[in-house]
Amino acid sequence: MPALSEVIAALDALWPPEQAEQWDAVGTVCGDPAAPVGRVLFAVDPVQEVVDEAVALGADLLVTHHPLYLRGTTTVAASTFKGRAVHTLIKHDIALHVAHTNADRADPGVSDALAGALDLRVTGPLVPDPADPAGRRGLGRVCELDPPMTLAAFAERAAKRLPATAQGIRVAGDPERTIRTVAVCGGSGDSLFDEVRAAGVDAYVTADLRHHPASEAQQQSPLALVDAAHWATEWPWAEQAAAQLDEISDRHGWGLRTHVSKHVTDPWTAHAASATHDH
Ligand SMILES: [Zn+2]
Repeated sequence: MPALSEVIAALDALWPPEQAEQWDAVGTVCGDPAAPVGRVLFAVDPVQEVVDEAVALGADLLVTHHPLYLRGTTTVAASTFKGRAVHTLIKHDIALHVAHTNADRADPGVSDALAGALDLRVTGPLVPDPADPAGRRGLGRVCELDPPMTLAAFAERAAKRLPATAQGIRVAGDPERTIRTVAVCGGSGDSLFDEVRAAGVDAYVTADLRHHPASEAQQQSPLALVDAAHWATEWPWAEQAAAQLDEISDRHGWGLRTHVSKHVTDPWTAHAASATHDH
């Protein structure tokens, strides 16, 4: 079995930590570099139910997209919910490793996984990383939808292909409009509207869209919006990441067992559709 330090080195090669945003908190949260790793669980959120899932699986390493401590802390006391997660992990010899904005920018990254789940053909990054001569790294992806379909049909595809959540899929724009080109950004993507407009795509798939940015985007151009739950847009990355580590494990003869969490950790748990009134 490889040591944690060897597995982390392999993960850092997939998602170089120096490519994370300045404000981000990526890397190893807890874990002994010398500890052997046999089983790895991938998930979006390092919440207690996912930590408990790692314990039940007998995992030695939990890899999540979202940081446990984004803004630092002065306590890991088990009386705090994050400290409770740290205690559970350490008591069961489970390491926690985070790949957040470094995984967003990587090639392949979070938005490649989202595009793949939606059967879109990626043509390039939405916001290219100027430090990448190959022009493949960066935030978001611009894609082609082949064959083209209506916005309504594309939203149906998103509802089918992304993991189920209470929110489902929200759509803005004419449902009959034909969609040929799509920008995608896993997670909260409303800071990228200028780049989406500049890309001239027919639709934008992301999460957490708010009233004003969505409304203004609709007023400025006939851009269709497809808004899925934040967790659902990032979950395909966990599957992609597990497959990437499987391949590395095979190459090194590590014999790792990888798992992807099936816990829906989107915070929204129910959705009541508005009643339609016939007058
Ligand atoms: Zn996210």
